Amino acid sequence: MDPPRAQQRTFRRNAHVAYFQRCLRALPTAAQGHDPNRITIAYFCLSALDLLGALDDHVALEQRQSWADWIWSLQSPSGGFRGSPYMTTLDDHTSPPHLPSTYTALMTLAVLRAPLDRLNVPGLISFISSCQCPDGSFSPLPAADEYISAGFQNDVRMSYCANVVADVIDAGLPTQTQTDFIARCKTWEGGYASRPGVIESQGGTTYCSVAALSMMGTIPEEPAASIRWLLQRQIGGFQGRPGKLEDVCYSFWCGAAITILGHAGLINAEADRAFLLAAQSPLGGFGKEPDDYPDPFHSYLALAALALSHQDGGLKQLDPRWNVSRETANWLREEMIRVA
Ligand SMILES: [Zn+2]
Repeated sequence: MDPPRAQQRTFRRNAHVAYFQRCLRALPTAAQGHDPNRITIAYFCLSALDLLGALDDHVALEQRQSWADWIWSLQSPSGGFRGSPYMTTLDDHTSPPHLPSTYTALMTLAVLRAPLDRLNVPGLISFISSCQCPDGSFSPLPAADEYISAGFQNDVRMSYCANVVADVIDAGLPTQTQTDFIARCKTWEGGYASRPGVIESQGGTTYCSVAALSMMGTIPEEPAASIRWLLQRQIGGFQGRPGKLEDVCYSFWCGAAITILGHAGLINAEADRAFLLAAQSPLGGFGKEPDDYPDPFHSYLALAALALSHQDGGLKQLDPRWNVSRETANWLREEMIRVA
């Protein structure tokens, strides 16, 4: 008989391989709201299979090629990628490329080892530049777009996505206004909020801020305050804000931010791993906490968190900034030199 889930101590690699394969075929009901952003689900599943070292053996070469062909079909003629073929036209105004989808498309192509000769690099540079706003923030769609003029989604998540893409293609975006914007998101607690004026820090937005600054080659102001705030989020696993319950995704957001800030050794990795393993579903994947149903988002981030601490032999090491395996990140760097 299986032990109660809270006492699980074994990493269920084979069950996770099966779970991500299932999600590639059909989204679980709970995740079907993400359908317009299918590329991100594909990234979670394919990058997870890469971290598990299972991609070559469990996804046939023809399937990997057809995934890559599908992603190329989402590349806008002017540069950047759309999230899914859902209600897509060939017109960039009605079906514009989307910044988070562009980040996940690029990472997924790298996971698939798809040759990047078809990547429209000049178009990509002009797309991410067109998403940058005068205050240094980024919007998910070109900033002139009427839907975005209110700027409600111009938060540090977009700064993160823009900086990964810029880092990969060496776009050389102006950094001063960006670092000013992110500095205005820092709260009195030491972490970062989603945008200026939000008073509470949060683990995910702190990760996005720290990772974006580090890709720009900038060290956050008063990093000790950020490190302290992040470390204080560890209960066993991590919580996203003071007073909240642990949630596996914050093992990645907080753990990766602490790692980027150079203090991974201060994480209680054993306690974090125990929480993560307890959140495994018997059928593979991870819930956000023990006894919760798995979803692709929490399942991927839980694996990424386990890959950060290198304790499970079956997992590849993670690049904490780009959030893919180091092997994939290295391939992508070399591929960008090849196609330059
Ligand atoms: Zn979560």
